[in-house]
Amino acid sequence: MSAYREYLETLRRAFPQPVSDQEHDAWFVFSVLRALDRVDGMKSQCPVLGDAREIDFSLATQSVVTEEMRTVESVSRELVDHLSGMFIWGHPRSQINVIPPPCIPGILGTLLPAIYNPNICSEEASRGVAFAEAEVISMTAALMGYDPARSGGVFTFGGTGTLLYAIRLGIEKAVPGTLQNGLAGEIPVVVCSGQGHYANKTAASWLGLGLRNVIAIPSAPDNQIRLCLLESELRRLLKEGRKIACIVATMGTTDAFGLDNLEQIRELRDQLVHEFSLDYVPHLHADAVIGWAWSVFRDYDFTLNPLQFPDRTLRALAGTNHRVRHLNLADSIGVDYHKTGFAPYISSAFFVRDAEDLRLITRDQSTTPYLFQSGHYNPGRFTLETSRSGSGPLSALGALRLMGKTGLRTLLGHLVTMAETLRNRLSAHPAISVMNPENFGPVTLFRVYPDDVDTFEFPRLEQNEAAFADRLHQYNEYNRSLFRLIQSEALQGDGVVISMTDRYRETEYGQPVVALKSYIMSPFSDQQYVQAVVESIDRARVKLKAEPMIHG
Ligand SMILES: *Cc1c(COP(=O)(O)O)cnc(C)c1O
Repeated sequence: MSAYREYLETLRRAFPQPVSDQEHDAWFVFSVLRALDRVDGMKSQCPVLGDAREIDFSLATQSVVTEEMRTVESVSRELVDHLSGMFIWGHPRSQINVIPPPCIPGILGTLLPAIYNPNICSEEASRGVAFAEAEVISMTAALMGYDPARSGGVFTFGGTGTLLYAIRLGIEKAVPGTLQNGLAGEIPVVVCSGQGHYANKTAASWLGLGLRNVIAIPSAPDNQIRLCLLESELRRLLKEGRKIACIVATMGTTDAFGLDNLEQIRELRDQLVHEFSLDYVPHLHADAVIGWAWSVFRDYDFTLNPLQFPDRTLRALAGTNHRVRHLNLADSIGVDYHKTGFAPYISSAFFVRDAEDLRLITRDQSTTPYLFQSGHYNPGRFTLETSRSGSGPLSALGALRLMGKTGLRTLLGHLVTMAETLRNRLSAHPAISVMNPENFGPVTLFRVYPDDVDTFEFPRLEQNEAAFADRLHQYNEYNRSLFRLIQSEALQGDGVVISMTDRYRETEYGQPVVALKSYIMSPFSDQQYVQAVVESIDRARVKLKAEPMIHG
């Protein structure tokens, strides 16, 4: 046998067999099992896999493609090793960010396409997996109050991608013909809240609008866009003759779970179209990548409360529902199943209320002669991507089917209950102030102060009066130091891993306010871990008092 044929024989064993071969199939499954077993060995009481040592990225430059082949077994070991140091998002001692632990059907939704590799660019290359995309789009559209017979949507590469679609559509609406001619003359603007995600800026700059054409409207203390300022800014722009490509309502801000008033924004938009006799309707997008999941409460009976949530939870869920139930008033919506839908990355979809809108960005058939020769479902005619993985839709389908409305209500209700418990404890603490008391999600922002600070009075003063700028900075630093202490303790297995935001908002005089952040996403979270956060803060405060040197 020639040398290459020998290698080929070995390589063939490293692929799933095209025709069922039970012995080999068992070996394939066993390889997966071995890898998972190895990961399991990296678990401890600590919310981290293996150990969390610093990674020396300069070592990466020494990596090269070797001459010789390796075995599946040895490569598997190396891949698993790369998980060392990862936070375990599903650990009850981890309250870090809006990163969910994926559920098992969500994981299968990624594993299966990884084996059979559907490309949902077209129906030909993905068949039933393309159908899964169509199903999830319909299911979610209906959940959010869109009419699935009229609406449309498509999976894309993240929440950022959903904003890119929204702004792209909005540009075409405000300045028809840009798909063909490009943009010339006055650049249209994007308007969003100051608490909007920076992905608004990413999308606007990548689309050639430029960062300075993203207009951020200040937010109120409850982290929603200030409507009166939105109105005056829109009027100013329209009076100047500027075109508005997109108004983005953030439905669940990243740090604070602030919810814009979509109902009134829609009313304002419609009124201005009429008043200024606009020949286009500025596109209204709901960036609901976090908030969409609360749509399961649209038809929850808050009076009977069949799931028997505690009163405080019920109030929090009703408060969120009060805003989220208006999602259907937006022209388009962004959804991240990989945030509040318990699917693994990347699982995000863009929705339009009116599928006809997608025609605005559809390519001419003549540009893609080698594609779409058969089938009815060809989103590749308008998607930004060419190849698209089936894992987004299949994972979302897995998660949605597993949970149904009851499961998602249960899980979100539990996370909110835990967050409410934490808020209660933090608010009762004389040295702590909760910074987003009016936001009812799973995230709690809080600031901790040294003993001598009056936490009833001071948070308001530092927020509003420039005379307190020095002390604001001093306490920003104090919270940073506390964060380092809490973090290092948590990595040793006591306490809880939380996170910190460098600027959850700005003061009235334009300075960043640092806050500690607890984002509860684990189904395994429970009372004792909430208590552990408070205890860890107390220990860190005592340490800081003893060694004020850490303070700098
Ligand atoms: C996370 C987030 C985004 C960006 O989404 P990705 O999926 O990370 O690309 C956009 N908007 C908001 C409000 C977010 O929280």
